[in-house]
Amino acid sequence: MQSFEIAVFEGDGIGPEIMRPTVSILKAMSEASSDYDLAFSVVPAGAANYAQTGESFPEQSMDVARKASAILLSAMGLPDVRYPDGTEISPQIDIRKRLDLFAGVRPVRVNAAALSPLTIPDGKEIDFVLIRESTEGLFYTQGCGEVEANEARETLRITREVSEKLFRFAFDLAGQRRTQGSGPGHVTCVDKANVFRAFAFFREIFDAEAARHPDITNDHAYVDATALWMVQRPWDFDVMVTENMFGDILSDLGAGIMGGLGVAPSADIGLEHAVFQPCHGSAPDIAGQGVANPFAMILSAAMMLNWLGVRHDHAGLLADGAQLQAAVDRVLMRGNALTRDLGGTAGTNEAADAVAAALREK
Ligand code: ATP
Repeated sequence: MQSFEIAVFEGDGIGPEIMRPTVSILKAMSEASSDYDLAFSVVPAGAANYAQTGESFPEQSMDVARKASAILLSAMGLPDVRYPDGTEISPQIDIRKRLDLFAGVRPVRVNAAALSPLTIPDGKEIDFVLIRESTEGLFYTQGCGEVEANEARETLRITREVSEKLFRFAFDLAGQRRTQGSGPGHVTCVDKANVFRAFAFFREIFDAEAARHPDITNDHAYVDATALWMVQRPWDFDVMVTENMFGDILSDLGAGIMGGLGVAPSADIGLEHAVFQPCHGSAPDIAGQGVANPFAMILSAAMMLNWLGVRHDHAGLLADGAQLQAAVDRVLMRGNALTRDLGGTAGTNEAADAVAAALREK
C-alpha cells in the first residue's frame, strides 16, 4: 500500500463548494482501494484568508504544499479584496512561480458532443492537450511593465532552460498519451516564428528536442492559424505546446470547444510538484448558492490521480484516474445531472453525487 499526501486549497467564492464533494469522491476511491491511500490536508490561502488575516499565502501553507505528493487547488481571488496597490490576490499564480510549475497542462477533450458548439464528424474525436509555458513568455514583466506618458512596454522572455524542460515535458506527455491510447504521439509547436526572433529561438529549441524523440512525430504551426484550426479541425491535434500568452488565449478557446469553463480541468506541473485546479475562477456571482458546477474540479482531480500514477508507476492510481474521468463523461453524456451553466437544473452536490453513483456502476 502506497500513501500519498494531498494538500488541499479550498480557495474563495465557489472554491469550497466544489472542492468538498471532490475530496469526498477521492476519499471514497482511496478507501475502496487496497493498493493506495490518500491523506488530505486542508490549508488556507486566498483572498478571504487575506481579508481575515492579512496573509494571502501563509508560509506554513506553502510548506505543506511543498511537502505534499500533489496539490489540489480550487478557485481563488475575490474582486473586492485586493492588495493596497490595487492588484488582485492570486496565490494560484504565486505558487506556479514558487514551485517552478512551468507546464500549464490544459486538456481539450469533448466529453459529450452535445456540450460542444462544434459539429464533430462521425469517427472524429476531440481529444488533445494544450501545454502553456507558465513562468515566462509575455508574462515575464507581469506587474512591472514600464508605462510612460505616451508609451508602455512589456518584455517577452524565452529562455533555453525553461524551453528545454517544456519541450521535453511535451514529448514525454505525447509518449504517455500514446501508451494510454489517447493520441498518436505527435507534438505541435505553436509560435510566431515568422515574425519574432524570440519565437524563431523557441522553435529552434523545439526542433533540437524533437530530434531526441524520433518515435514521436512533430510539426510547427503559427498561433493565428492554430486558432483557426482549433475550430475547423481540432480532432487533428494531439499535444500542442506554446508560449505563456498564446497558451492563455488558446486555452480559453479550448474551453469554449469543450462546452465552457465548467468542464475545463487543468494542471500546472513542474519537475517536482504539480497543482491541479479547474480553469475557471471563483465565480463570486454564484457563490454560496449551491449551484456551482463541480465537473472541472472533479476532472482536475482525475488528472491528479493519473499524474501520480505515471510518476509513481502505480497501476491502481492510473486505473482510478481513468475511471473517474469516465464517470464524469457518463454523467455529462446522459445529461440528467447537469448544472445550470450547462443548461441543467442540478445543484453542485447533485452533480457530484451523480459522478459518485456513476463510479459505483463499474
Ligand atoms: P478569473 O479571472 O479568476 O479566472 P473570471 O472573472 O474570469 O475569473 P470566473 O470566476 O471564472 O471569471 O467566472 C466567469 C463566469 O463563469 C461567471 O459568470 C461565473 O458564474 C461562471 N462560472 C465560473 N465557474 C463556474 C462553475 N464552476 N459553475 C458555474 N458557473 C461558473
